[in-house]
Amino acid sequence: MNIPVSQLPSGGYGYAFSDIQVSPMNFLQITRYLENLPENDPLERYLYEIKSLIDEDKRILDCYIMDVDFLIFYKKLITISDNATFNISISCPVCHESIRKTISLDKDIHFKQIDRNVMEGAIIELGGHKYETIVPTVRQFFKVFEKYLKYRKIEDLEIIKTIALIKDFDIRGNQVEDDVLGAQHSDITLLLALKELYNNRLEPIEVYCPKCNDGKGPEERRGITVSVETLIVDFFREICNNCPLDGSKILFKQVRKG
Ligand SMILES: [Zn+2]
Repeated sequence: MNIPVSQLPSGGYGYAFSDIQVSPMNFLQITRYLENLPENDPLERYLYEIKSLIDEDKRILDCYIMDVDFLIFYKKLITISDNATFNISISCPVCHESIRKTISLDKDIHFKQIDRNVMEGAIIELGGHKYETIVPTVRQFFKVFEKYLKYRKIEDLEIIKTIALIKDFDIRGNQVEDDVLGAQHSDITLLLALKELYNNRLEPIEVYCPKCNDGKGPEERRGITVSVETLIVDFFREICNNCPLDGSKILFKQVRKG
C-alpha cells in the first residue's frame, strides 16, 4: 500500500519522494510482532516499531519522526480494519459509564495544519544559548536516540524527542541536554511550545457521554477529550478488548443432547 507523503502530518513538505510504502501485517507477522515487541521498555519498543517500518521501506529513514509516529499507528490500523475504523471504550470521568465509540481515520483523525515556516525550523534561546531547531528525520533522530538507548541517562521518549529537535546535538550534546533538562520559567514554555508544534500533530477526539448529555442540546453538551496518542500506545490490546469475535466469524459446535 502506498501512502502519498502529502497525506502525512508534515504535509509532505521537503520530501524527495512522493509516497511511502506501508502494508497491513498478516497473521504470521502479527504473531511475530507481538512475540518480539519488547515489554516494559518504551525506548526499545519504539525502536522496534520504527525498524518494522524500515523493513518494508528503507525510505522511512528519510521520513520525519512526526510522520513515522503516524505511520506506526496507520500500519496497525490497516492491519486490523479493512475500512480504517476502530472501536474504543473510555470511562466517563463524571458518571463512570463506559462509552464506546467507533473512530474513523477519515472522519475523526485530523492533523493540526502545519505551517511551512515551522518546517523550516527556528532560532531559539535556551539556557542562555542560541540554537537552531530542526524537524528531525528518522536518520537524524537515531543519532540522538542511539546515545540514550545505550547509556540510558534519559528514558523518557518525549524528552528525547524534544532534545532531537535541537540541531548540533552531535557537537554540543551535553550542553543541549543540560539546557533541556534544566529548563526553567520561560524556557519551559518554549520547550512545551516546540513539543506541541513538532510532536503532537494529532487533534484530540471529542467523545460525548450519552448518560450525562441525555436530552441536552448541542450547546449544553460537554465532551470528553481523548488524545489519540494515548490510544496508539497499546493499540492492539485496545483492539482485542473492543472488537471481540462475534457469532458471524466463529461458530461453536453445539453439544448434542440426549
Ligand atoms: Zn457520563
